[in-house]
Amino acid sequence: MYSSSAPKSARVCSVATLIHLVSDIHLQADRPETVRLFRGYLAGPARGASALYILGDLFEYWAGDDCLGEPGSFESGICADLRRLAESGTALHFLAGNRDFLAGDRFAAAASLHLLPDAGVADLAGTPTLLLHGDTLCTDDVKYQAFRQTIRAPEWREQFLARSLPTRLAEIDALRRRSRTEISGKPADLMDANADTVATAFRAHGVTRMVHGHTHRQGHHAHPLDGLLLERWVLGDWSQTGSYLLCDDSGCQFVPVVT
Ligand code: MN
Repeated sequence: MYSSSAPKSARVCSVATLIHLVSDIHLQADRPETVRLFRGYLAGPARGASALYILGDLFEYWAGDDCLGEPGSFESGICADLRRLAESGTALHFLAGNRDFLAGDRFAAAASLHLLPDAGVADLAGTPTLLLHGDTLCTDDVKYQAFRQTIRAPEWREQFLARSLPTRLAEIDALRRRSRTEISGKPADLMDANADTVATAFRAHGVTRMVHGHTHRQGHHAHPLDGLLLERWVLGDWSQTGSYLLCDDSGCQFVPVVT
């Protein structure tokens, strides 16, 4: 559980709990429009949120927390913006995606956010909700799942991070090129969430709502299961425009973000 230990009785008057969820911003220095859009979101709409959950692929890639070492680095700038939002009173939570899974404690400290495990249940304005990046639901893509298992092993992480930053960046670049080639040759259905895996996740966590990203197929799906009607929200990706999912005690809705 991502349960908060903050006392709930401290407020003098009740304030509506507004939760924002985003994913797949794919921030990188050479996509300035997306960077500007996201920075505007952090300084604007996100300030009205009690909590912001970032469900992975915030960055196009993350080579390791030592990328924060150089003052003025792209990554440090984004972390500073996140920290400012946290200091304004919005609780920040980050769940790693397949592109930024190497983000660790130093990143969390720089951005003033809490790192969440791969999949877990959070109380979103009163509704227990399963949060995950979404790649683990795409089980039809057997080749990707095998690759994921390899790179998520602690030994792989340790060996990769032991290399120099320039070596890692070159390897990531090669991986991204290969991934682009492979994705273009895969049928679209292969890279979507598998219905049985979704049902298994709902049952395993005992929730009626799930939110994830990764597939870049923004949507709201109803899943009749075991006599219940469950809901799955899929977050969209960001480029020229973006969006966040806004959840309060009456439910969730997508809100567009434009410049
Ligand atoms: Mn992803």
